[in-house]
Amino acid sequence: TRDLLKELTLGASEATTDEVAAFFVADLGAIVRKHFCFLKCLPRVRPFYAVKCNSSPGVLKVLAQLGLGFSCANKAEMELVQHIGVPASKIIYANPCKQIAQIKYAAKHGIQLLSFDNEMELAKVVKSHPSAKMVLCIATDDSHSLSRLSLKFGVSLKSCRHLLENAKKSHVEVVGVSFHIGSGCPDPQAYAQSIADVRLVFEMGTELGHKMHVLDLGGGFPGTEGAKVRFEEIASVINSALDLYFPEGCGVDILAELGRYYVTSAFTVAVSIIAKKEVLLDQPGKEEENGSTTKTVVYHLDEGVYGIFNSVLFDNICPTPILQKKPSTEQPLYSSSLWGPAVDGCDCVAEGLWLPQLHVGDWLVFDNMGAYTVGMGSPFGGTQACHITYAMSRVAWEALRRQLMAAEQEDDA
Ligand code: PLP
Repeated sequence: TRDLLKELTLGASEATTDEVAAFFVADLGAIVRKHFCFLKCLPRVRPFYAVKCNSSPGVLKVLAQLGLGFSCANKAEMELVQHIGVPASKIIYANPCKQIAQIKYAAKHGIQLLSFDNEMELAKVVKSHPSAKMVLCIATDDSHSLSRLSLKFGVSLKSCRHLLENAKKSHVEVVGVSFHIGSGCPDPQAYAQSIADVRLVFEMGTELGHKMHVLDLGGGFPGTEGAKVRFEEIASVINSALDLYFPEGCGVDILAELGRYYVTSAFTVAVSIIAKKEVLLDQPGKEEENGSTTKTVVYHLDEGVYGIFNSVLFDNICPTPILQKKPSTEQPLYSSSLWGPAVDGCDCVAEGLWLPQLHVGDWLVFDNMGAYTVGMGSPFGGTQACHITYAMSRVAWEALRRQLMAAEQEDDA
């Protein structure tokens, strides 16, 4: 990926057009590897990919070929995956608060599995999609997660019975329960607690005559090696909780809706320096202990927090650039900050960095940029969605090919 980036940034610098634009390089092989790791660590769970996380065509096609299901939040996402041939049976419309027109779209296109967390949604489904199979979304304790979902979605345990009764009365079929522990959750036990809660709701539903057989573990699985809690650790907690509350052979279809897990580490982005200012510090000498200067250097990039660096605002991420040329030990480092293109004081990508002297036209590279970035080229800054170059190693390509052949043989059989 790095070699390809080097080549592409060189090409972009030498291009005759005046405009520069950030661009991604995507290692699709990393996605294939993630998939096999998932299957090994959570063998009882069927992965669905959360399309909202990164809906670039290369990602969707590889995941579809690997046989994943897809979790869609709206009509546009359902259309996208159906367009590449994903059957309706492999789609969950996982948005507890949906537009009526989009519920009708799901009904028309055979998408049966829908989530809900309130009575109004049941009433909409009765009218617009009476044959839907509903998954009740329950709230979790996501108070320690970086990005919380239960602030907006999910019903409390004490309101579940009422909703399940209401569904029964309205002749709406409830088939299961979902949750989302939030993203960046520091405690894997949150999954275990939610699985225990789902067990209670399954009992309630069964008592009321619903045929409960879908357990949806949601997302929130980390996408980088450097995450506070490793994926393998989470998987081990989940497996133990499943063995306890939903033992093998219990007839429950267990699925998860993973977003960042699949794509974060697969994408690297190159961003260009479009402007530079040197600002003298108010208190000369303050910086001397760390570096060799009393100035701070302010770099303006062609992407910012309203575009691909939105994780700075939403996930408290502090992006650190990788320099294309490693600075020598003699090179002085300067206190530096990185800003996006918006004419707005909030568009700060990173501060407090110590960087060598960089220049307008230089490229900065950032790793782990696959989640909630693509398609978000800074509209505020006037730029467009960034271009993506896809790559895949021969080994990953072979693994994908074998998977395809196995799937074809299964279809033939
Ligand atoms: N499922 C639902 C319903 C979501 O809302 C989200 C993200 O917001 C996801 C799955 C994916 O979450 P993550 O990217 O943290 O895995």
